[in-house]
Amino acid sequence: MSTLEIRDLQVSVKLPDGELKPILAGVDLTIKSGETHAIMGPNGSGKSTLAYSIAGHPKYEITGGSVTLDGQDVLALTVDERARAGLFLAMQYPVEVPGVSVANFLRTAKTAIDGEAPKLRTWAGELRGAMEKLQMDPAFAQRNVNEGFSGGEKKRHEIMQLELLKPKMAILDETDSGLDIDALRVVSEGVNRVRETGETGFLLITHYTRILRYIKPDFVHVFVGGKIVEEGGSELADELEVSGYEKFLAKA
Ligand code: ADP
Ligand code: MG
Ligand code: MG
Repeated sequence: MSTLEIRDLQVSVKLPDGELKPILAGVDLTIKSGETHAIMGPNGSGKSTLAYSIAGHPKYEITGGSVTLDGQDVLALTVDERARAGLFLAMQYPVEVPGVSVANFLRTAKTAIDGEAPKLRTWAGELRGAMEKLQMDPAFAQRNVNEGFSGGEKKRHEIMQLELLKPKMAILDETDSGLDIDALRVVSEGVNRVRETGETGFLLITHYTRILRYIKPDFVHVFVGGKIVEEGGSELADELEVSGYEKFLAKA
């Protein structure tokens, strides 16, 4: 059982001229393994800033508050250490990795996180199984990471990482954006499979309610103006689908 605790998190973005622009205005959120939390909010409300701050992106400066995973100070860790501590951030490896195949990348990541290389015999099967479940061509494993990946392939690759790396906490930022309906279903099923193990906590960040039809969150947090302004169960997402964010804007 793991707990990610975000307490009064305040974050500014570093502008090119060196100035700090405040974005997160005190975020409080607790996520336990097995729970799925959705953060929903309008464009520009700071949802990605929250994800990037937990990921350790250098563009964002933490000006107050704390983030801990099972009591460990996440904000004091390097990006690599955060991954090894069990945090999975879907935007963490968005770049092309020239000359590194998907298969090698996943094996290296798995080795780094577990502290030992996965057994060759069982690993090949696990990799094949994960790809089959995501309806991916086995040849995909030999392609270079993110090189010429379509939007759908990028997302499938993310979910593959999720299934194979078995993180304690997974943060998925706009995983639904740019997916056609078939890809959305395959990706959602992947998330739900990992969810069923009960060993991973999820933070699903989204602008639209679409993905929440496939992945029913246990908790929904409405995010406006850099903070959470309303919390509820999955019925809150249904309400947003009907009436939008308007009534929450005044609370920011
Ligand atoms: P969301 O993911 O909810 O759409 P973001 O976290 O991407 O919101 O952005 C929140 C706010 O921070 C926006 O007003 C955005 O313009 C601003 N912002 C984010 N990154 C930068 C940046 N590098 N330079 C200037 N403003 C930024
Ligand atoms: Mg945005
Ligand atoms: Mg965003």
